[in-house]
Amino acid sequence: MEQSTIAAIATAPGESGIGIVRMSGPQALTTLRRVFRDNRGRKRERFTARHLYLGYIVDEKEQMLDQVLVSYMPGPTSYTGEDIVEVNSHGGALILREILSLLLRQPEVRLAEPGEFTQRAFLNGKLDLMQAEAVIDLIQAKSKTALQQAGRLLRGELSQRVLGIREQIVELLATAAASIDFPEHDIPEITSQRMLEGIGKALQAMEVLLSTSFAGRVLREGLQVAIVGRPNVGKSSLLNALVGKERAIVTDIAGTTRDVIEEYFSISGIPIRLLDTAGMRETEDPVERIGVALAEQTMRDADLVLVVIDQSQPLQEEDGATLDVVAGQRRFIVLNKSDLPSGLTAEDRDKLATEQVFQVSAVTLEGLDELRSAMADLVVQGVLQPESPFVANARQEQLLREAASSLQAARETVAAGWPLDMVQVDLQAAADRLGEMVGLKASADLAREIFSRFCIGK
Ligand code: GDP
Repeated sequence: MEQSTIAAIATAPGESGIGIVRMSGPQALTTLRRVFRDNRGRKRERFTARHLYLGYIVDEKEQMLDQVLVSYMPGPTSYTGEDIVEVNSHGGALILREILSLLLRQPEVRLAEPGEFTQRAFLNGKLDLMQAEAVIDLIQAKSKTALQQAGRLLRGELSQRVLGIREQIVELLATAAASIDFPEHDIPEITSQRMLEGIGKALQAMEVLLSTSFAGRVLREGLQVAIVGRPNVGKSSLLNALVGKERAIVTDIAGTTRDVIEEYFSISGIPIRLLDTAGMRETEDPVERIGVALAEQTMRDADLVLVVIDQSQPLQEEDGATLDVVAGQRRFIVLNKSDLPSGLTAEDRDKLATEQVFQVSAVTLEGLDELRSAMADLVVQGVLQPESPFVANARQEQLLREAASSLQAARETVAAGWPLDMVQVDLQAAADRLGEMVGLKASADLAREIFSRFCIGK
């Protein structure tokens, strides 16, 4: 298959205690023999697998580059599935570069592309695509939970689930194929029934996984919280109060927060991204209109919307309009200015009765702890008590959605009493999408795109 031997510096650039240069491929061991001298300056022919050897790296003129520890991990039981050699040298940027360039001067050794070691591991069947993606997540994890989740994915927990569902679908495909033997329109009732049950079960399993994609996204990107409401209800003040510092411009001239202002704080290590949007009112001012459009987009993308209402006044038409825009989104109603006498009517209160309501004052800070802890609960429910490995990224989520919709189409076909062989296309499509998730049939382009997100040396 892949005949070249690749080499790269695997440790982060800069000065450090040690640095690692690694090589993978058929020439790794030959190259090591050529550049390594033991403590007594002798060449070594034999390297026992996974042993450390102390010695020196020498260049073509037998000049010593550094004292090193080297190890040899023969394929196929190595990370990449190929012969791997690792050179632990001192961690100076120059030392590492010199060792790397010596290796690159050897025949058939070339510089590795970003992620190429892991790509080879994937191509050699050491990791599936989701496990490979977990390697990036592991390296980039920003919280302990994200780290644990990536660990689960790397161990293949999500892959096993997905392959399990795929297996169920493949069985259904066999049933559908067998039904061709029955005369048309004469399918035994029992077969259709079994088919419907099987499809239902697979769909349910997919939905469980899909429900984790929210948690997966929160883990990766944090919880996106949009603060919305008509001008002057106290959105900027609330943002400042939640974050605990002066950032947004607070004025009492309607419409001063013109663009979307963002601030972060964190709950249990999960970043909460707070977005303060411009007032949601109709406006003629072009600058403000941009703000309004931006606000609407921000609101739609948010995981949670805080609808701020000034409770010192009766509900206004614009408050109602804001509530309509965010209908169907996860939302908390924040009744601000609780330090002032309430101006809400009994009718207003009725209207909000079914909502999750928080009474707060951005000035006295009353009620803010309750609001914060409700946000924390949301994060905790979604993220910190995972019963299932999470769907880890948009690629996986998209494929899972496509598989689910093919399966729904198959269910409709069976329910409508069509011959069972007609569901084969949809079942096959569902099985294929799940296969792509795991990378059973990954195209070269897809693999390249995924692995290019890695750093060099991984
Ligand atoms: P925004 O336009 O919704 O961002 O509103 P601002 O945060 O700019 O606040 C508008 C006005 O309401 C300012 O004068 C704030 O001082 C005042 N305000 C905000 N929150 C409160 C509150 O909880 N109580 C009182 N009394 N005034 C508040």
